[in-house]
Amino acid sequence: MKSVSETFGSMVFDDRVMRATLSAKVYASLKKTIDEGETLDIGVANAVAQAMKDWAVERGATHFTHWFQPLTGITAEKHDSFISPSPDGSVIMEFSGKELIKGEPDASSFPSGGLRATFEARGYTAWDPTSYAFIKGKTLCIPTAFCSYGGHALDKKTPLLRSMEALNKQALRILRLFGNDTAKCVRSSVGPEQEYFLITKEMYDARPDLRFCGRTLFGAKPPKGQEMDDHYFGAIKPKVAEFMEDLNEELWKLGIMAKTEHNEVAPAQHELAPIYTTTNVATDHNQLTMEMMQKVASRHGLVCLLHEKPFAGVNGSGKHNNWSIATNDGQNLLSPGETPYENAQFLLFLCAVIKAVDDYQDLLRISVATAGNDHRLGANEAPPAVISMFLGDELTAVLDAIENDAPYKGAEKTQMKLGVHVLPKFNRDTTDRNRTSPFAFTGNKFEFRMLGSSNSIACANIMLNSAVAESLKIYADKLEGAKDFEAALHDLIKETIKEHKRIIFNGNGYDDAWIKEATEVRGLKNYRTTPDCMPHLLDKKNVDMLTSHKVFSVEELRSRCDIMLENYCKTVVIEANTMIDMAKTEIAPAVERFSADLAKNVAAKKAVAPTLACAYETGLISKLSDLTDRIVSAVSELQSAVIALHDCDGVEEEAYAIRDDVLQKMCALRLACDEAETLTEKKYWPYPTYADILFSVR
Ligand code: ADP
Ligand code: MG
Repeated sequence: MKSVSETFGSMVFDDRVMRATLSAKVYASLKKTIDEGETLDIGVANAVAQAMKDWAVERGATHFTHWFQPLTGITAEKHDSFISPSPDGSVIMEFSGKELIKGEPDASSFPSGGLRATFEARGYTAWDPTSYAFIKGKTLCIPTAFCSYGGHALDKKTPLLRSMEALNKQALRILRLFGNDTAKCVRSSVGPEQEYFLITKEMYDARPDLRFCGRTLFGAKPPKGQEMDDHYFGAIKPKVAEFMEDLNEELWKLGIMAKTEHNEVAPAQHELAPIYTTTNVATDHNQLTMEMMQKVASRHGLVCLLHEKPFAGVNGSGKHNNWSIATNDGQNLLSPGETPYENAQFLLFLCAVIKAVDDYQDLLRISVATAGNDHRLGANEAPPAVISMFLGDELTAVLDAIENDAPYKGAEKTQMKLGVHVLPKFNRDTTDRNRTSPFAFTGNKFEFRMLGSSNSIACANIMLNSAVAESLKIYADKLEGAKDFEAALHDLIKETIKEHKRIIFNGNGYDDAWIKEATEVRGLKNYRTTPDCMPHLLDKKNVDMLTSHKVFSVEELRSRCDIMLENYCKTVVIEANTMIDMAKTEIAPAVERFSADLAKNVAAKKAVAPTLACAYETGLISKLSDLTDRIVSAVSELQSAVIALHDCDGVEEEAYAIRDDVLQKMCALRLACDEAETLTEKKYWPYPTYADILFSVR
């Protein structure tokens, strides 16, 4: 068997391969494109394409594809063969610079929210040279951005790259003010921790709700759930360990540094964390990770569930987006420094994030809003739908001291040095981690914890990068014109704290009292559902900010809002129809079968002993009969609610009707069916129970 260091990145056209296969001149020119965003000339592209193709063919690849991330949430690929006919009748393997740089997939079936007229079905994909090409199966995959011919972004990567550029531009302005003339670029990095469930394929196949919707729509609470907390970090079962080992190997080949893996709180729930990397690469890697999890699971007779809430009453799955910003020479701008001067810079970047999160709470909430994630946020297991920031006691005390012009008396080890006149020196945070905060500072990075397990991390990072770029722009505008830099800096930090400290909360985010305080006293936003928050994407302040940094055009924002609401509606309608089908064709008949058999028993018993009361059977029959009636009427109410959606005027209205009517009726139907499940003899029940599913993998 090959060692990890031999296989790691073996399927990636990475820097090592580039250096080995490209001429020094081509390599240097490509490197400039990758590191500094220089445009690539076609000569270089041709040379790179040639080397890439030779490398890929040597590793068994026969096809290539531009790999992209349309707004469906998954990745897309259209495979083309390398094969070209040659004049002598044979074939040659060809791949040109043009094919590397630009592709033209038929885009008509990807959502565009009206950005692309149907007669203009083609979009184009453009190579993102900052994310390495890789081989998957027999295909060379080239990470690309996906746009319409009018230049509108139809994917998640394009705005992500734009947001990184905006952040880079503004952060560099700030660094120059602090006398840093050497940093060439600033990039955000992300390490996303991915949660997921593993169940057996047998269980999955037996549940239409899992197959069609990725989550169970029915299911009574199991006798044993996560009460014992015995799963979290518990011993990993052999079948799961085999899966993890296999998954790691696949990910390592793709150059994805999967680092830790452990069981999570719920039975059958696990987590994978990679080592962090540049945001757009991390985004590509996370998409690949999710894809590989599903592929590898199926090789092991398992199914990997990435839905945010596969099981009601059991913890759902999220994704923690660990985010920081660093210079190309490796300085983490969210790391408290050694000297007071460095700390002043750190505090300014910290304030930029505080201001960004407060000013654009709504955008952060929107960036994680899906029908699936609505089941998680605010449900006492995941962060609430209210956004707040955890800074820890020490940093909070530093900010308090600055706000009040008071001397900082922090922990003992803390030194008071008024370097930049008034800004204190302090050490790294020593307080406990707060797991209930949606947005927590963890020493040298922020952890945004509201993402759902199936979310692309692109959306959250687009908003985060853009909002922080906006704070930095406002700061740079002020500081560049300041006569006394240090005084202006101090005032700016103080002002930010005064204005935005309402977003800082170090307490228990799951507490109801907090939600009350957050919304009633502090005026923070509490958008509980996707339809509640999504329309705010088009609020003037959001449109102004995102367009001024050229992250989105107005048309792109409008189309995205529509697409996200459309996705929401489609998801719930599919769930509603699946429920109707399951209840009508399997659940109600099963309950009836059981009742009929009970009635037969009563008749048989009474034939022998006519005076028997048969209270058990008759009581149960009457309860089940009531429940069947309830199920049937709940089905018909839900059906009417779904049909009524056709009368809605536009997707926003439809989303509200779903939130206010369809979801309630789904709940009512579920309640009746789940109660019936608890009363029906197991052999009659058409589906595996929660206990069967959650404890299926051994
Ligand atoms: P924990 O498991 O307690 O949440 P870790 O230190 O293991 O904390 O980090 C979790 C994730 O954070 C990992 O994916 C890691 O790569 C990522 N991470 C660590 N440092 C940074 C950083 N500076 N920027 C972005 N992500 C980071
Ligand atoms: Mg974490």
